Amino acid sequence: GIPSMPAPVLGARRPTRQLQVGKVGVGSRSPISVQSMTTTLTSDVNATLQQIAELTAAGCDIVRVACPSQDDADALPAIAAKSPIPVIADIHFQPRYVFAAIEAGCAAVRVNPGNIKKFDDRVKDIARAAKDHGTPIRIGVNAGSLDARLLKKYGKATPEALVESALWEASLFAEHDFHDLKISVKHNDPVVMVRAYELLADACDYPLHLGVTEAGPAFQGTVKSAVAFGALLRQGIGDTVRVSLSAPPVEEVKVADQILQSLNLRPRKLDIVSCPSCGRAQVDVYKLAAEVSAGLEGMEVPLRVAVMGCVVNGPGEAREADLGVASGNGKGQIFVKGEVVRTVPESKIVETLIEEALRLADAFDTS
Ligand code: SF4
Repeated sequence: GIPSMPAPVLGARRPTRQLQVGKVGVGSRSPISVQSMTTTLTSDVNATLQQIAELTAAGCDIVRVACPSQDDADALPAIAAKSPIPVIADIHFQPRYVFAAIEAGCAAVRVNPGNIKKFDDRVKDIARAAKDHGTPIRIGVNAGSLDARLLKKYGKATPEALVESALWEASLFAEHDFHDLKISVKHNDPVVMVRAYELLADACDYPLHLGVTEAGPAFQGTVKSAVAFGALLRQGIGDTVRVSLSAPPVEEVKVADQILQSLNLRPRKLDIVSCPSCGRAQVDVYKLAAEVSAGLEGMEVPLRVAVMGCVVNGPGEAREADLGVASGNGKGQIFVKGEVVRTVPESKIVETLIEEALRLADAFDTS
């Protein structure tokens, strides 16, 4: 087999209470989980289950479904029963759907205290129903729907306002001896969001669900989420994450998965190390990297593949990787585990790398 060194880690997780969201543990004793949210009509059970299957295949651990109508609430039992991953019902405005979701066997329920009118009066009943069914609750505070009282007090959705809203709601549950809570305090500005989670982390020991809300289209949202999550995860803050993109939810899962892999918080799978190219390049590095990446997509083994444009850093990086190519003079030197195993013409680089990658992947399977 292939020897592997333990991956360096960022630092200790912030100790939290531990929750069970269906089969997925959430809290500092569990790996950080990835969440996303379906975009289908929840009432369309088949379409929703189809999308959940796609999300699961992409690496999603927990899925959230919206529940804005009675038809959606009616679909929850079938979805919760058939989904391969735990389903969280996302409830705004209507406390009665909270009870429906708990009865339906959803693995958790998300409530937004800013949006559920007269919510505070219902906490006792919700806490009892949730306790009876062992259903955790996420208190999901969102800058765009902050409690009117706090908006007035703070003037806008400041970190302090978001945290006060969340802790107030948590205290109502705590009064009824209900502590199976996780909390989010989302804002679209990563700086405000990071500060809010830092304050929240200091003020409680509930597990935290990280998210930059309304983060934007794929490129901007990816960058915002990556920097914000990185700043928090470096401090051990964050137990479950959701990347929000104005893009299909599978993309959210891929981004979240890559963020966690990059920080060694999830086992690394395929890692392509490719150079940015420069005036020394003797091959079209972008094309080569894209073709190798496409050819190896979906490979589940922790393989580091170096694609380098010339002989300056090429042989060094290619040697450090499991597999690599250093190009020059219309040829590619193919490295496996630090040794040049072949030199092939440029036109054969991609197929040779893929062939060698498959051979190495087989070695993982049998080791
Ligand atoms: Fe430039 Fe070569 Fe470095 Fe690529 S490996 S960036 S081509 S010097």
